[in-house]
Amino acid sequence: MRIGIAFDIDGVLIRGKRVLPQAIRAIRRVQDARVPFVLLTNGGGTTEAAKAKELSRVLDSDIRASQMVLAHTPMAPLAANYSNVNSNAVLILGSPFLCIFTCTRPSSSKRNESKSGKSECKDAALAYGFKYPVLAEEILVTCPEIWPFRAPSKSCQPISLDRKIGAILSFHDSQDWGRDAQIICDLMRTGGDLRRVVEPHHRDRTRHLHQHHTPPEQLPLYFSAGDFVWSNNLPLTRFAQGAFRYALETVYSRLTHGKPLEYTMYGKPHKVTYDYAQSAIDAHAVSLSLSHEVPIMPCKYFGIGDNPESDIAGANNNGWTSILVKTGVYESGPHEAKYLVADVEEAVDVILSQPHD
Ligand SMILES: [Mg+2]
Repeated sequence: MRIGIAFDIDGVLIRGKRVLPQAIRAIRRVQDARVPFVLLTNGGGTTEAAKAKELSRVLDSDIRASQMVLAHTPMAPLAANYSNVNSNAVLILGSPFLCIFTCTRPSSSKRNESKSGKSECKDAALAYGFKYPVLAEEILVTCPEIWPFRAPSKSCQPISLDRKIGAILSFHDSQDWGRDAQIICDLMRTGGDLRRVVEPHHRDRTRHLHQHHTPPEQLPLYFSAGDFVWSNNLPLTRFAQGAFRYALETVYSRLTHGKPLEYTMYGKPHKVTYDYAQSAIDAHAVSLSLSHEVPIMPCKYFGIGDNPESDIAGANNNGWTSILVKTGVYESGPHEAKYLVADVEEAVDVILSQPHD
């Protein structure tokens, strides 16, 4: 049986802003053994190409963009519905600033800000094939009264209001919960019609929208990760994308007199992400010329991670073999992993010691 590996990044290959030396050795050994692998993370907010380039540099290895499965990468097939000149626009949530390798969370570093207002989230959406991705900050620039509690960014440009928003995709942590919750609720109440949100002459026709009426069909809403908190150098945890979702669910339900917010989840531990990762591993196997029979040849997939709730639960629930490392979130206590090891190099020892073709 062939084998394939998915490495988590934070807490497995990188800790804080530091690359673990075991990670460099582990990736090199896997490459020497010609074992197909991907890097599977609940982080994102950048393009796969940019992330691969940065990780190639810090891991001193050749990592391809096709080996990167970021939280939003499995959303790429959704672009088929929004890819031509007549398509609706999509709202992309996430930092409008460049995010570089340690930045699976937003960085406050000035060096990561885009001088041109170019957004890595938007670049990722364009690379997937979305024809008209727009950012929440661009909507705010177009109509500052939407969230009149701070000045809009000078680096973003206004957008046309002619095109409806057809879907909302959260690629990364919200940079401004208030702005994003307000805009999402506005779009939900108007069926994605920004003109009805911002133009005063629509006031009479939208008056009822101030109450609890919403269109019968809710706009599609997608979240790329469900993690509630994350850790940085501070003693207490920071809110992650899942925490914003809880807040949004609460205000939406209050605004609509109890209507539940409908959404679709991506990221670990969800099946759609593991299915996508398996396809990416299989594609890497083909590119390594391991076999032309990859689609029918059974494969044992290994998931290496530091988070029992996402990495280990995801691997176990999707028929993979889970390996938990102690270099990240997990420190001690009960766990459901098939193997518990000190670090990623020991995880690779376990995998390479298994019989495989
Ligand atoms: Mg991790």
